[in-house]
Amino acid sequence: MLPVVALVGRPNVGKSTLFNALTRSRDALVADLPGVTRDRHYGVCRLGARPFVAVDTGGLSGVDEGLDALTAQQVRLAIGEAQALVFVVDAREGLLPQDRGILDELRRSGKPIVLAVNKTDGLDVQGALAEFSRFGIAATLPLSAAHNRGTDDLVGALLPLL
Ligand code: GDP
Ligand code: MG
Repeated sequence: MLPVVALVGRPNVGKSTLFNALTRSRDALVADLPGVTRDRHYGVCRLGARPFVAVDTGGLSGVDEGLDALTAQQVRLAIGEAQALVFVVDAREGLLPQDRGILDELRRSGKPIVLAVNKTDGLDVQGALAEFSRFGIAATLPLSAAHNRGTDDLVGALLPLL
């Protein structure tokens, strides 16, 4: 069985775009509407020395009812089956209270976390990273999933955890 990496974060931060970059597919549904991926979505990443399974998730909105609750349940299943977690945040929106709540949940899983600060294209990268440094995650990496920048470094940070 290949190791599993779950991509987790708020809706619209770029999880599906990252999934596509990692798996080099267009399978994951990328949309400008937040929260379009409602179930889990699997693909194999072969960018590094060893392949792993990436799981795209629907996003944790913090609203724990209705469809959002079902999505959150799916995300928790993905976290449960993963060896490592990629916590994706949006450098343009910055650190939101929801991100803190999601991180608390990820930490409760006890799984290793890599923080991917996405949408850094056109931004001051150091400034974008500085805001998220307060999370205290050693592996914090800048990313532009849409421009396929930072994906190799992300894979490089993940492989030792798998
Ligand atoms: P998800 O809801 O977390 O799966 O987010 P999506 O992958 O569907 O992306 C949400 C929106 O953010 C889409 O309009 C993407 O084109 C855009 N997006 C994703 N990654 C990047 C990035 O690296 N830079 C920029 N500028 N936009 C991005
Ligand atoms: Mg998505």
